[in-house]
Amino acid sequence: MNVPLLDVNAQNHPIAEELRAAFDGVLETGRFIMGAEVEQFEAELAEFLGVKHAIGVSSGTDAILLALMALGIGQGDEVICPSFTFFATAGCIARTGATPVFCDCHPDTFNIDFASAEQCLSDKTKAIIPVHLFGQSVDMDACAAFAEKHELKVIEDTAQSLGAKFGDRSCGAMSEFGTYSFFPSKNLGGLGDGGLLVTQDDELADIAIKMRNHGMHPRYYHQMVGGNFRLDALQAALLRVKFSHYADYTRQRQENAAYYKEQLKDLEGVILPVEQDGYEHIWNQFTLRVEHGQRDALKEHLTENGIGCEIYYPVPMHQQQCFAHLESLQRTSLKVTDELASNVLSIPVYPELNRDQQDAVIAALKSFNA
Ligand SMILES: *Cc1c(COP(=O)(O)O)cnc(C)c1O
Repeated sequence: MNVPLLDVNAQNHPIAEELRAAFDGVLETGRFIMGAEVEQFEAELAEFLGVKHAIGVSSGTDAILLALMALGIGQGDEVICPSFTFFATAGCIARTGATPVFCDCHPDTFNIDFASAEQCLSDKTKAIIPVHLFGQSVDMDACAAFAEKHELKVIEDTAQSLGAKFGDRSCGAMSEFGTYSFFPSKNLGGLGDGGLLVTQDDELADIAIKMRNHGMHPRYYHQMVGGNFRLDALQAALLRVKFSHYADYTRQRQENAAYYKEQLKDLEGVILPVEQDGYEHIWNQFTLRVEHGQRDALKEHLTENGIGCEIYYPVPMHQQQCFAHLESLQRTSLKVTDELASNVLSIPVYPELNRDQQDAVIAALKSFNA
């Protein structure tokens, strides 16, 4: 049996009629930039996340860039982020003219290690970007203590964790800014690019809303330089349809993860992902750690058996060519990150994965080296 790593058609095709109706509604209005669909989507997400301001934007990447710009981060500043993340986290820091400084992460949760972040500080450090990786929250008590002690701004990169919880608070809602992505492979996957920026702060929201549209206010007057970071009306309308099913998608991911944990608990040579007490994990990825240098062999074995799998992430940020010139790469050990890059492997956990498919994944894992 072939089991893909992700199957967007299995999610979108059953709701094709709803999606077409949403498209028709926007076509009818003739209003394609911002407008009512964007505003309603923002209101729904603000309520879901428990935040005062939710600002629809063009992508998860642009949400991070806009957050940094709204905080006035730029040339001469340093921003700390984990090395074990998707490129956008670090790329946006560099694009503002600031310098990314990479810290290590915890081997069991894959999330940022604040002891390592401490070693990355300098008198230029202005902000930190914790990443809620693979669907599970960072320890946000540790983050708040760290940020307060060193007077840093915090942007939560929540691209993979929309609706994941730290205690009773939503990821992305606990800092100056939270950023989200609706790239099709994210838990709330759009039919194209899209993103969201949230904040509880009225003043920051005001700046970000202006910067989303070239810093323009009123029309053709610019007190600040922004960009075109707008969310399309069509994308917002389609995302509203997807969002109406979001609780089901999340529950199904959680059921799939629980089934793997039960069925794979005695599997040798593989460490299962760790769920922390009091955190609600939403499983954007189900990521194994493969022991004894067997990761690439296991990946090949699964692929031969028709099981989709992928390495997130094979090349950490401190190993990227575009950052090789940075003097700031040497401040802390990145040993855990390097280990993870060589031993992680993500397997299918998407909501529509059925039991037969999951059993095929489990059988393929169990037949490795058996
Ligand atoms: C996907 C992702 C982004 C970027 O989101 P886009 O919508 O693709 O621009 C940023 N950070 C992380 C951790 C991501 O996984």
